[in-house]
Formats: sequence, structure tokens, C-alpha cells
Amino acid sequence: MTTHTTRMLIIGSGPAGLSAAIYGARAGMQPIVVQGLQPGGQLTITTDVENYPGFRDVIQGPWLMEEMQAQAEHVGTRMMWDTITEVDLSGSPFRAVGDSGDEYIGDTLVIATGAQAKWLGVPGEQELSGKGVSACATCDGFFYRGKKVVVIGGGNTAVEEALYLTNHSQDVTLIHRRDSLRAEKILQDRLHAHPHIKVLWNKAVDSFVGGDTGLTGVALTDTVTGEKSVEPTQGAFVAIGHAPATELFKGKLAVDGGGYLIVEPGTPKTAIPGVFACGDVMDHTYRQAVTAAGTGCMAALDAERFLAERDFAAGKA
Ligand code: NDP
Repeated sequence: MTTHTTRMLIIGSGPAGLSAAIYGARAGMQPIVVQGLQPGGQLTITTDVENYPGFRDVIQGPWLMEEMQAQAEHVGTRMMWDTITEVDLSGSPFRAVGDSGDEYIGDTLVIATGAQAKWLGVPGEQELSGKGVSACATCDGFFYRGKKVVVIGGGNTAVEEALYLTNHSQDVTLIHRRDSLRAEKILQDRLHAHPHIKVLWNKAVDSFVGGDTGLTGVALTDTVTGEKSVEPTQGAFVAIGHAPATELFKGKLAVDGGGYLIVEPGTPKTAIPGVFACGDVMDHTYRQAVTAAGTGCMAALDAERFLAERDFAAGKA
């Protein structure tokens, strides 16, 4: 077991964590980033990125994350191939323990653990994951070129995924458990106007049906009539929202109704001085790489201020 100490400990290595690291390193805080189970975060499971500023041509999500990590390391960040399993937030310095058994001590703590797609938890979902069942149309839609696909959900993500899939398929069905969508009106209008998308209302998914060759259909129950049916499909995209990765902080930091960490509005400050949260773990509204990077920057600037004030009070500065 090794103990690693730093002025700024960052948990998570997506755009939020790495932006915090770049700013923190340049401010001389010698940050440590503990990468977690999915180094690079959600962008590593996407392909084309067209909305990250600075690139006139389409770039690839995994490439963008490699560049961000290289930039963070170049300015002095230490990257740790480890996953935090335990944190002690009782006061600065904060202590975290990794899967490896190593201990991490940070004068400040930046939480950038992100969010992950939610799953329905019905039979067949896990078994057929990667064989027809996916939670990311932009990652996997290409594989269903020319095939019939379905999207499950009624929010912005589901509607955007259905619209996106029309790039690959002329037969897209949105399956929703109620009779109205919660997606924004402009997206709903686009969905309803699209000639290649139909909507199945009031349908709950009972299971995903298939075998060794992959998915063949989705078993449904009508939530009004109780009628059972099977919608044949080779590709099903689950788009029922995201769950922020806050398990580590249960009982230690407050979360909102959706499970996202609560911060002081307009800042990355949690209720514990010296502990900051940035990116998708505290943002259920925007959830973009560029907003995650922005809040990561804010967390580093606030961490620096926190330490400067503390050092000043202690007569060190
Ligand atoms: P949402 O929470 O907005 O929507 C989830 C959808 O999935 C709802 O329609 C919900 O149904 C349905 N659902 C949830 N659980 C189940 C279940 N067990 N079985 C069947 N259906 C289920 O999540 P999104 O990912 O769509 O969006 C999250 C946030 O990100 C939102 O604030 C959204 O506005 C934002 N966002 C913005 C975008 C943009 O601005 N371009 C793009 C994507 C997301 P029900 O309606 O019945 O509750």
C-alpha cells in the first residue's frame, strides 16, 4: 500500500476531471487524477464529436480524451490507474482509498465521477447487451445500417437518439410507457414530422427477446389495455436517462431528487469546504463535454482559492 498526497485530489477522468487537472496543475497544485472504471469517461464510448469548440472537422470522442489526458499530464498531473472505493470527507485533508489498496490524501477534493446510462433491468437486457441492445445510438447506431431499430424512452435523449438513428435506418420506432413525451417541443415536432419514425404509445418493455444470433424483438405490455405483443427488431436503444455516480458519497454529501450532487448554485462548491463537484455528477441539465470542462475549470479555480485563504489564515502566505 502506498500513500499519495496532493494539494488537489480529483476523482474521475472525463472532461470535468481533466479540465480541473489542467487548471490545477498550472496553478501549482500538483493534482492527482484517479481515473476510475472508465478512464476518459462517457466520451470514450462515443464516436463523432462535432460540438466541442476548437475543431472545424469532426473529431472522435476517444481521441479528444487522449488529448485532454496528454495535456493534463504535460502540465504536471499525475494519473492513477485506480478506482476509489472509499472516501473520508470529515475535513481537509480528505482521504480516499483505491481498489488497489493505495491511499490518496488531498488538501482539496474534486469530484468528477460523471454519470452513466440507466438500464431497464428486464430479462434479456444484459444477455443481449452488445448483441442488439445498446444505451448509445451515437456509438452503435452505425451497426444497424438498413435494419429496423427501436428506441425506448420519452425524454430528450430518446427523441434525439431516434432522430439520429434515421441517418442509418429507414425504420425507427420510439417506444414510450405513457401517451405523451417529456422531450422539448421542438424535438417532438421533428420526431412527429419525420417520415421514418413511428411511435408506440403506452408500452412497457417486459423483456428483450433473442438468442445467439442476437436480438430479434422486444416483448411489450400495453399499459392501458394490458395486451401483450412483440415488436420485431434487431437493434434496441435504451434511452431512459442517466444515473450520476454518487454511490461513494452516500450519507456524506446531499443529492437532489435525481441523485445528482447538490452544489451552491452557479458554483462547484458542495456543503463541505474544500470539496467541489463538477461535470455530469452535479449537472442534470446540460450534460455536455464542454459544460463539464467548464465546471471542471471552476472547481480548480475554487480549490486554489480555498487553499490560498486557508494558507493565509494559517500565516503561510
Ligand atoms: P429524462 O429523465 O428526461 O427522460 C427519461 C425518459 O425515460 C422519460 O420519458 C421516462 O418516462 C422514461 N423512463 C424512465 N425510466 C423508465 C423505465 N423504467 N421504463 C420505461 N421508460 C422509462 O432523461 P433524458 O436522458 O432524456 O434527459 C436527461 C436530461 O438531459 C434532461 O434534463 C434533458 O432535458 C437533458 N438533455 C438535453 C438534451 C438537449 O438539450 N439537446 C439532449 C439530451 C438530454 P416518463 O416520461 O414516463 O417518466
